[in-house]
Amino acid sequence: MPRRKKEKPEKEETKTPEKEEKKKKKPKKEVYTDPYELLDEYLDEVITAIGIAYLGFQRDEFKEIIKDVFAGAVGQVKSKPKSKTIINRLNSARDSVMEAIAYNILKIKDLSSLTDDQLEFLVSNVKKGITSLGPRLYEESKKRNRGDLIEILRVNWNMYGILSPFTCPKCGFNAVMPDFSCRICGADVSMKEVKKQLDVKELLRGYSSIDMQGFKEILSSGYFYYKDGVVYPPSSSLQGMFFEIILSKDEKSSIANISDMPHHP
Ligand SMILES: [Zn+2]
Repeated sequence: MPRRKKEKPEKEETKTPEKEEKKKKKPKKEVYTDPYELLDEYLDEVITAIGIAYLGFQRDEFKEIIKDVFAGAVGQVKSKPKSKTIINRLNSARDSVMEAIAYNILKIKDLSSLTDDQLEFLVSNVKKGITSLGPRLYEESKKRNRGDLIEILRVNWNMYGILSPFTCPKCGFNAVMPDFSCRICGADVSMKEVKKQLDVKELLRGYSSIDMQGFKEILSSGYFYYKDGVVYPPSSSLQGMFFEIILSKDEKSSIANISDMPHHP
């Protein structure tokens, strides 16, 4: 009966050395500082020191929006860190800390319920997230007539967004996607508008002097691809963001003349 044998030593209470060892081990595990207890103590000092107290959230909201970055700055430590140490760590990673706080704000608040200060904070600190949050931030900024916030969004879009070669005539962002919709304001941009921005005739004139074969292909099929400032004939296989530009009848006939004409420098 192997089971009994196993149970026996555990029930024996005479083996004191083992018990003492267990007692010693237990409290050791609990020595790690609980960042959430610390957060309660340091909250006011921290939000003031990292410059977000003006956002005016309730105490429990502030806790919610900084708890993860705060815990990250505390780390796994056994002795209680000073508030200054935590603040220094947060400030040294300021950009990513503010970006994380911006996303956390959206987890607990609706965009429409934000104060102007809070909305401005989001607009200024959402960086890579502008790809997905851009449309909502634009809409809210527009609703509040905050052209200044839209300008900040535009700068951030150009830095972190999905940059399009075409500018949306409605919102002015370089956010016209290959399906000709604007990623920021949702407008449908016409083929005519895109071709106006491209200056199709000049573009194809230049292209014909580089690749006459491709030019003829474009002319016969009536469309071409456009990617990163370069014209490609329909037979090209492209990846990433590219646009299909369809030529109108008029364009085709006026462009057809290009191939007959000698290229003027
Ligand atoms: Zn737009």
